[in-house]
Amino acid sequence: MAITVKNPIVEIDGDEMTRIIWKMIKEKLILPHLDIDLKYFDLGIERRDETDDQVTIDAANAIKQYGVGVKCATITPNAARVKEYGLKKQWKSPNGTIRSILDGTVFRKPIIIKNIPPAVRSWSRPIIIGRHAYGDIYKSTEFVVDGPGRAEIVYSPTGGGEKKTLLVHDFAGPGVIMGIHNTEKSIRSFARACIAYALGEKVDLWFGAKDTISKKYHGFFRDVFADEVGKAQKDFDSAGVQYRYLLIDDAVAQVMKSEGGMLWACMNYDGDVMSDMVASGFGSLGLMTSVLVSPDGKYEFEAAHGTVMRHYYEHRKGNPTSTNSVASIFAWTGAIARRGELDKTPDVVTFARTLEAVVIKTIEHGVMTKDLAAIAQPKAEKHALTEEFIDVVARGL
Ligand code: NAP
Ligand code: MG
Repeated sequence: MAITVKNPIVEIDGDEMTRIIWKMIKEKLILPHLDIDLKYFDLGIERRDETDDQVTIDAANAIKQYGVGVKCATITPNAARVKEYGLKKQWKSPNGTIRSILDGTVFRKPIIIKNIPPAVRSWSRPIIIGRHAYGDIYKSTEFVVDGPGRAEIVYSPTGGGEKKTLLVHDFAGPGVIMGIHNTEKSIRSFARACIAYALGEKVDLWFGAKDTISKKYHGFFRDVFADEVGKAQKDFDSAGVQYRYLLIDDAVAQVMKSEGGMLWACMNYDGDVMSDMVASGFGSLGLMTSVLVSPDGKYEFEAAHGTVMRHYYEHRKGNPTSTNSVASIFAWTGAIARRGELDKTPDVVTFARTLEAVVIKTIEHGVMTKDLAAIAQPKAEKHALTEEFIDVVARGL
């Protein structure tokens, strides 16, 4: 008998190989077991083109309305894609559009499986990275200085008031210079999204910066985090979750020695670099999930990888593929579990956790796609095709 899901989940369809997998997951793993109202938005590239990308905006607003969404990977068109699909223009990244409508932060979380050992032996629980995705060097002004001269920062308050001029450097010869900024609003949103995630997932929150050197800039981040955590202290206490501020270099050292199990909030550049380090440390892109969380607690789950275009081209030629569906399955289970928690329907949460456990057991029993077979220990002798893997999971479920 199917389990009833009280409130809707926003379903966002996508492109290429992940679109093929998406349909299989939905038909074989989800719909046979759940009686669920899916608010469907087709963000396949053709549909985005037809609607002048309105469908992306509608999907983001639906997540705002219903609070939980699950998204398939989508093409972000470049010039080659415009030609390939005959598009009207290079539509913007759907993830970028949705992120700016929800004012959200992206968290990346690896899936841990016993026979897929991480590169760092002590990592037995996921290390989740939250990256601040605004400002710093990603919205900077910079130039090469050709010769001697004075460089200053000037701030002129709107509506008059005293100008502030600060010396950056008196150049005696050629050099280079950059101006960066951030806004209190964006840092606060980021801190709140991290807090919402840490409380929701019941994991400790770590934040690292270099406030010993950058007393004002990095110090500002540290203070905003402390302020937002302070406001939520009661929730931290009742969730049994802790906040730690560390110097960024100490954070790196502690993470490498830890068993994992924390949310590591990173400034923009740190998050860019550390998310790639952590992802490769845990194994495969096919095991990396991603969730967008807004400061007011709206969630959108997805796989961290793209549409796996190369596999799709093989699939279209009629060749067998072995594409890993695990991160996409976990996007579904993440959304379903979140829905169940919000609706206070434990059987819905249990279904999601059960499906996750079946996927992990399946791989631990040696059934896995090619990307994992290559790194599993012991190495898998053969690998499952895309649909075979999902069928084995369906039987296990
Ligand atoms: P990709 O789809 O992440 O795939 C890159 C390569 O990584 C694949 O060719 C494959 O390697 C391996 N891989 C990734 N996911 C896999 C999986 N589930 N199972 C097995 N192998 C996997 O990146 P891309 O090919 O550079 O990008 C394709 C499209 O995705 C682009 O149009 C891009 O705009 C879009 N994209 C979307 C998102 C998103 O919606 N969140 C994110 C990133 C990229 P092998 O070929 O060696 O097997
Ligand atoms: Mg990076």
